[in-house]
Amino acid sequence: MQTLPTVLLRPGEADRVVAGHPWIYAASILRLSQPAGDGDVVQVKDHRQRFLGIGFFNSKSKIHVRMLSPERVAIDQAFFERRIRGALALRQKHLAEAACFRVVNAESDFLSGLIIDKYGDVIVIQTSALGMDRRKEMIVGAVKELFAPRAIVERNEFSSRKYEGLPDSNGVLDGQLPSGPGSLLRVELNGLSFEVDILGGHKTGLYLDQQLNWRQVAQLARGGQVLDCFTFQGGFALHAARAGAVHVHAIDQSAEAIATAARNAAENGLASQCTFEAANVFDWFKAQTTAGPHEKVVPRFDLIVLDPPSFTRNRAAIPDALRGYKEIHLRALKLLKPGGTLATFCCSHHIDGQTFQDVILDAAFDTHRVLRRIATYTQSPDHPVIPVIRETEYLKGFAFEIAR
Ligand code: SAH
Repeated sequence: MQTLPTVLLRPGEADRVVAGHPWIYAASILRLSQPAGDGDVVQVKDHRQRFLGIGFFNSKSKIHVRMLSPERVAIDQAFFERRIRGALALRQKHLAEAACFRVVNAESDFLSGLIIDKYGDVIVIQTSALGMDRRKEMIVGAVKELFAPRAIVERNEFSSRKYEGLPDSNGVLDGQLPSGPGSLLRVELNGLSFEVDILGGHKTGLYLDQQLNWRQVAQLARGGQVLDCFTFQGGFALHAARAGAVHVHAIDQSAEAIATAARNAAENGLASQCTFEAANVFDWFKAQTTAGPHEKVVPRFDLIVLDPPSFTRNRAAIPDALRGYKEIHLRALKLLKPGGTLATFCCSHHIDGQTFQDVILDAAFDTHRVLRRIATYTQSPDHPVIPVIRETEYLKGFAFEIAR
């Protein structure tokens, strides 16, 4: 292998890298041995010239180097095949039955800047780092080798690409999407049929990170009246209905998502148990929990699911986000019957599990409820958590019963 440009780290900056964190910021760098091109592979050494590994360089990004390997390996199609095969083995171990899952979850799979999702026989790729983006052809080659999919598409239209100097890009990279209306696909998840808009949906199509939680929360729904807030295309709602909920009312502010959720319910023979409503959850809760002078709010749900989007774009948004979380919990608790269950999720990187639970307990205090925690949830195992890479952990959830 030809000699790679060397990035020398400042004293004290190597430990993070040795521990497994792949990001090296400009401030950690002492100097470069020779100029490196953006998107090129560099080797990284500590200030004593000890070799730490290789990574992609990008002077345009705040993250100057994204580590790829602690060894000197060639970054070619065979490298991607090995890494993707390793990631796939993990999914086969922990999500053996799944036809749709995240095959590669960037840092969680030691491929910073690369996401690969599998929706049946269609593969969706996102490259959020310049070095990865430049190697799209190798990645497509590796994916074809491993999955022989019907189509490989890229969903590269998201805001963080601009921090790497990358333009938006969206479309089919290889193969052909099945013909149908737009880019709609029907896939199977946990034995239920879901519609996926492969070129236009949220994330890469579905919230795959909730795959296990859909099943687990559904266990709490049997025989009950269920409210699914922020349902998107009916993830929790459909699982709850199948598990034997008497009725599920599901809300999302997106009329399009609600229409899809209703189609999904019909497709799975669950339409008679479900109602769907396009509404803002905050407004809906306010209307349902505001009582006139001689009225009382009647609690009528046995299970309420709260799965809002991340309310925090950045740290500055945390106080507002916490107020938002508290408000929906307060209102949800008022609508839960005695002994009812709240299943609630927070997908913000900026709010940890303890802080999230504290907000819920605050809402319980204000509504004079005492809660019993019966479950804790995290992201599905195809979004592995590597604790030394704190950014890999983001989804937390709890189920609480009203104990008193
Ligand atoms: N529960 C879903 C994922 C929810 S993602 C699942 O398991 O698949 C968050 C959803 O909240 C999005 O569909 C978005 O349209 C919706 N949303 C965001 N703000 C909202 C609001 N104020 N009221 C209602 N829905 C909202």
